Amino acid sequence: MSSAKDIWIFAQHEDGEIAEVSLELLGKGREMADSLGRRLAAVLVGHDVKRLARTLIEHGADTIYLAQDPSLRVYRTLPYARAICGIARDMKPEIFLFGATPVGRDLAPRVASSLRCGLTADCTDLRIGDYTSPKKKKYEDLLLQVRPAFGGNIIATIVNPETRPQMATVREGVMAALEGDSGREGEVIEVPARIEEGDLAVEVMARKAGKRTVNLRKAKVIVSGGVGLGSKENFDLIFKLAEALGGHVGASRSAVDSGFIDKEHQVGQTGTTVRPKLYIACGISGAVQHRAGMSESMKIIAINSDPEAPIFGVAHYGIIGNLHEVIPKIIKTYFFRRKK
Ligand SMILES: Cc1cc2nc3c(=O)[nH]c(=O)nc-3n(C[C@H](O)[C@H](O)[C@H](O)COP(=O)(O)OP(=O)(O)OC[C@H]3O[C@@H](n4cnc5c(N)ncnc54)[C@H](O)[C@@H]3O)c2cc1C
Repeated sequence: MSSAKDIWIFAQHEDGEIAEVSLELLGKGREMADSLGRRLAAVLVGHDVKRLARTLIEHGADTIYLAQDPSLRVYRTLPYARAICGIARDMKPEIFLFGATPVGRDLAPRVASSLRCGLTADCTDLRIGDYTSPKKKKYEDLLLQVRPAFGGNIIATIVNPETRPQMATVREGVMAALEGDSGREGEVIEVPARIEEGDLAVEVMARKAGKRTVNLRKAKVIVSGGVGLGSKENFDLIFKLAEALGGHVGASRSAVDSGFIDKEHQVGQTGTTVRPKLYIACGISGAVQHRAGMSESMKIIAINSDPEAPIFGVAHYGIIGNLHEVIPKIIKTYFFRRKK
């Protein structure tokens, strides 16, 4: 049975599917629940969404709190917050995690404020650990919430020692989801949504969602370009190398700001966090804000003319040289090998 002190995640869904970030939170939540000997619960709010509970259980949840109401069909801040806060007040979770998506960034602060607890936004790592306050008070098994601070120049670890739940939003793509296990079992507890008239003040007249054309999060190979390319025209080299390797194209923020490529290709602290099997950084210095979004890649190759470039500090293989010479050689060699 579920109980107080459990670990919770908010199960975000859209168009009948659980968001990838919610599955990633379940992966991390499972690890923490096992280490603390607690249960992992997902809060599923919506209308006609019961079948999604199965996906959540298969990816690690023990318990699903399911609140359904026709007014919850489309996301709206007030009714969603009302339903979630009601369940949280009854069940008193120890930890409550949201994805740092537009919905999570809107909803989590509302829930935290209503529950009168703290919230750390945009975490890039979560751990369980002990903490001693400046007054020497000791706390055990707190949620250590890790995120870049001061423009990404330091990595801060934040704790909420006194208030519960300990709440955080977590960036998409930084945690690993578990493989779905169709044999996993869990309980679904249906709870009332408790929506009040005043929660429905905002009416959704129409929804228009732009199609995402770049999906770096799922890419196995990413070739990224930086300011070292020199121009938008030269950035074509990155597209050619990515095409040769069957990969996707990423970029540094400065390359985006210089107009070489669109923002949706940006990797890093204020772009997408990626963890592909292979990441090739071309003409990218490796600023801390860029590394924050790619350092978890399985293999990193850096091409840079400056042997002191910080990118070489995280690269598994480094090529010191002019990318205008190096990249065409890689493409040529690759095609030559494939033809043989
Ligand atoms: C709050 C905040 C958030 C940020 N978020 C992000 C983010 O999400 N992502 C991000 O990337 N940045 C981010 N930045 C910016 C970051 O600090 C750096 O400015 C940026 O990453 C630098 O981009 P770059 O490496 O392309 O350019 P530069 O730092 O100018 O590096 C260019 C590199 O190209 C090399 N080079 C030049 N010519 C050649 C050549 N012919 N052949 C080979 N190498 C060559 C140079 O040696 C150099 O190392 C953020 C900054 C702040 C303050």
